Amino acid sequence: MTQSSTSLLEILERSRAALATGALDEDVAQSAGVGAARYVAQERWAGIIVAAQGANEQGWSRREELSSELYEKLAASHGPPISEALAASFRELDTSQPVQPTTCTNCRIRPGFGPCPRCSGVGVLLVQSPTGNTSSVDDCPECEDGFATCTVCGGSTRTISATVRYVNRTPLAAQHLVLPNAVADLAGTLRGAFSAPGEIPAELAIELEADESATAYRGAQPGAMTDFRGYSLGDAARRALGFARRVRVAPNFLLRDLRTFAMPFITAAFSTSGSPVRIVMFVDTTLTPRFVRQ
Ligand SMILES: [Zn+2]
Ligand SMILES: [Zn+2]
Repeated sequence: MTQSSTSLLEILERSRAALATGALDEDVAQSAGVGAARYVAQERWAGIIVAAQGANEQGWSRREELSSELYEKLAASHGPPISEALAASFRELDTSQPVQPTTCTNCRIRPGFGPCPRCSGVGVLLVQSPTGNTSSVDDCPECEDGFATCTVCGGSTRTISATVRYVNRTPLAAQHLVLPNAVADLAGTLRGAFSAPGEIPAELAIELEADESATAYRGAQPGAMTDFRGYSLGDAARRALGFARRVRVAPNFLLRDLRTFAMPFITAAFSTSGSPVRIVMFVDTTLTPRFVRQ
């Protein structure tokens, strides 16, 4: 998170004061392509950025026969916790499915022995001479007539039937800007202002879910926060909270970290010789005030 001695909110407040004195009238007139613009009024608003970091997990399962060693190994191993790895491929036992001792089906014909993995159960190997011109057929040294110690049960004829889940986990980050409904049309203008959660100044961090538990205790509506340091959130807190809840329960999504930030901005109206002009002013991550005509 950016730690700066200059506060984004302070810069925004200074720019707000400058607006009110008419100091930006000329800039607005130029950017709007009109002869003259005169400051009329302004409103303070704030949206909420919900930044979620986690991973998407896709998995598939199948019944397998496992040797007791492999079963014990899988039973003791789990995928890495989401806090340690956002990307991972692993297999694990699906403990919701039954586990049954069975007789190995791989070595039914000759108990304890199955098709030799080296020669595929043929019993002989084709041996190519070093020059590659001639070849000969040799007895496979790993087996007897194509039978070798069963690769599934290890020769014990006992296996464990269980469901194994194969999992592939890939990183997924989502950033969502929730604006008060009254200014929802500004989403396109404001969405790109902060490109990554790491660039958002710490002073803008907002405790939405803490607000929820505090207000619930007092019997108030969850997400009832309507203001961030004088900037109106409108209904953004309630809707951002709803979004955060949906992220927490999204299927196949493992959440590592969810943070919420306020994004304060100004809307200002100017009169011109033609139609009135509306601008949006915000401070970007380089702490530069920017204004955009709507
Ligand atoms: Zn063999
Ligand atoms: Zn076997």
